[in-house]
This record gives sequence, C-alpha cells and structure tokens, in this order.
Amino acid sequence: MSSPRRVVVASKNPDKIREVEAVLERTDHPWKIVRGLDWPDVDETEPTLEGNALLKALAVSEATGLAAIGDDTGLEVDALDGRPGVFSARFAGPEASYEQNVDRLLAELEGVSNRSARFRTAIAFVVPGSEPLIVEGVLEGAITEERRGNRGFGYDPVFVVGEHTYAEMSDDEKNKISHRARALRALVAALEDQEG
Ligand code: IMP
Repeated sequence: MSSPRRVVVASKNPDKIREVEAVLERTDHPWKIVRGLDWPDVDETEPTLEGNALLKALAVSEATGLAAIGDDTGLEVDALDGRPGVFSARFAGPEASYEQNVDRLLAELEGVSNRSARFRTAIAFVVPGSEPLIVEGVLEGAITEERRGNRGFGYDPVFVVGEHTYAEMSDDEKNKISHRARALRALVAALEDQEG
C-alpha cells in the first residue's frame, strides 16, 4: 500500500477539518491529517475564493513545513447577485457568528421568491517546493425560508438540496454530495493525474 499523504488542513475550524478528513478517508489513496500544530492567523484579504484558499495553504505550509490544504467557501445567492460570496464569513460584520450571518441572509431574502443559490469551495494544495494545485467544487441548492435541522455548521440550516437542508443530513449524506467533497475529489483526481 502506498504511504499516506501527510497534510495539514489550513483551518482552525474543527467542523471543517472533520469534513475534510471524512471525505479524504473515503478516497483510494491513504491520507494522514496532521493535527495539533499552530500557526499565525491568516487574514482572508484576496478578492477571490481561489486567492484566499492559496493564501491560507501557502502560509500554513510555510509555518509547518508540511503539505497544506487551504479551503475557502462562498455561498452565492442569485437574488443577491451572488452575494455574500467571498464575504460569506463576514456577511453580518467582521466578527459575525453563524447565527448572525444566517439571520442577515434570511432578512435580505424576506419576501423574495427566487431562492436559488450555490455553495462554491476553492481548494489549494501546497507541497513545499512544488507548484500549488487549485481546484473547486460547486453544489446547487436553494435558501429555505426558515432554519431546518440542527447538524452541521455555518449556513447548513438554510441551504437545501432536494428535500433536505445540509443541517438535516447525516455527516455521511452531506459528505457524499457537498461542495467541499466535490472540491476534495477534484483534488484527488488532479493528484492522480499528476502522479500518472
Ligand atoms: P470559510 O471558507 O471558512 O471562510 O467559510 C465562509 C463562510 O461560509 C463561513 O461563514 C462558514 O461558516 C460558511 N461555510 C463554509 N463551509 C460551509 C458549509 O459546508 N456549510 C455551511 N456553511 C459553510
């Protein structure tokens, strides 16, 4: 069996790290997510998801000396012309909580009938001394009129795909279809291509 790819997830959000690990565990190649390391906070100063994903992966790879996966996600709502997009984490203000961001989203969409939206995740994979790889994953869905379900994090209670919101899905169900899972599978495919 090939040796595991040792990698740090460039995030301090345990929900996100757990999702990344759960998806990578199901791929053919073994991965080892290295935990317990620290690095200075990285400000998301780039205007694009790709730019921020790369910023995080480069900073964390440099600080730890290990390969790093950087992820940046945006929720694009059609009736809001693609907002909050790259500003999803700060939709209700610089230190906004998940609760406050969801409240702002529901308030902006009050009385709006077109609820279509998508989650987009950009992932940058940086190995010290190699060219970075950047991939993305998208999942189309819609915004509910009120919160449903109590699992997951962030906008999960109001993002619905088919019958269920992400917050009504088990971890397994979300990880089979999610924007982040799609991006991670694109990363694995790109690495397999690269390695021949
Ligand atoms: P970031 O990629 O951590 O900067 O996330 C941007 C914003 O999107 C934050 O408010 C997150 O809580 C939210 N977010 C990221 N991934 C997900 C997800 O899988 N479900 C729901 N919200 C998410």
